[in-house]
Amino acid sequence: MSIDEAVRAASARTLIATGVGFADGDYKPVEQINVSVLDYGFTRSDVTYDVVHVWDGRFFRLEHHLDRFLASMAGLRMSIPHDRDAIRSILMECVRRTGLREAYVAMLCTRGRPPAGVRDLRQCRNRFVAYALPFIWIASPEKQQSGLAAAIASRPRIAPQSVDPTIKNYHWLDMERSLFEAYDAGADTVILPSLDGTVTEGPGFNAFAVVNGTVVTPDSGVLEGITRQTVIDICGRNGIPVEVRPVPLAEFRDADEIFLTSTAGGVMPVTRLDGRILGNGAPGAMTMRIRDLYWTWHREEAETTPVDYGC
Ligand code: PLP
Repeated sequence: MSIDEAVRAASARTLIATGVGFADGDYKPVEQINVSVLDYGFTRSDVTYDVVHVWDGRFFRLEHHLDRFLASMAGLRMSIPHDRDAIRSILMECVRRTGLREAYVAMLCTRGRPPAGVRDLRQCRNRFVAYALPFIWIASPEKQQSGLAAAIASRPRIAPQSVDPTIKNYHWLDMERSLFEAYDAGADTVILPSLDGTVTEGPGFNAFAVVNGTVVTPDSGVLEGITRQTVIDICGRNGIPVEVRPVPLAEFRDADEIFLTSTAGGVMPVTRLDGRILGNGAPGAMTMRIRDLYWTWHREEAETTPVDYGC
């Protein structure tokens, strides 16, 4: 079976199950997991999260996601009564209870609420929630066949000096408003510039370009995506030149190929940028090579952790 066929077959299978979540010591249907309207995670977006996926019954790069989640919580001075091993077990159990072979698995920590009448952040009880859902695609496998139409937003990404994008967060208003702008222009998604006129990222993904055979991606002002790192590693191991550096918008607009990376979709080709057709209008050869390697790595033991489904 080709990678494309495997991706399509897996995407059809994920339609059958609903999700399972964990909160306050219990596993429940995901619809029953709630966050209080008084939680600062809701009222102030004072929350961090991470998303890992399960593919064909195996977590992909789970330890990388746990590293990032723990670093994000530390960055926001949050603490929960579950250590790394406990979080891993909770994620495992959420997936096991859904029985899903392909899953979108989220973990998050909200600031919580301070005691009544108090506004001291240090007195908030931070709240951990996790859940597993059927795999979610930013761009469906069908859409990935033709490639996405992307737009460059007129609005810059929130400055990293204000909200650190390496701490995975829900500060998405800049991206959501830009998405509407992109829809109006007939695009599927949007990539936001920095205040300095370089490329940053978009709603749920990092951005890459291929310029004269070299794969380039921004070095800062972005979430350090696990898929982004996987692509960098793939390039490294396969002798593909890769540069992590500022990417000026002009260079990006002129690139031979563009692709986006996310846990929710993998390596996603862009074939139109602001209406300009890239190459011959089909996903580029380098993008497809990296995409194939990305999905092939999902079968490697060193990159994956099997889910224990029990029976
Ligand atoms: N950038 C942003 C803003 C994101 O929200 C995400 C994923 O949700 C990414 C990049 C891609 O990160 P990863 O590859 O770890 O999924």
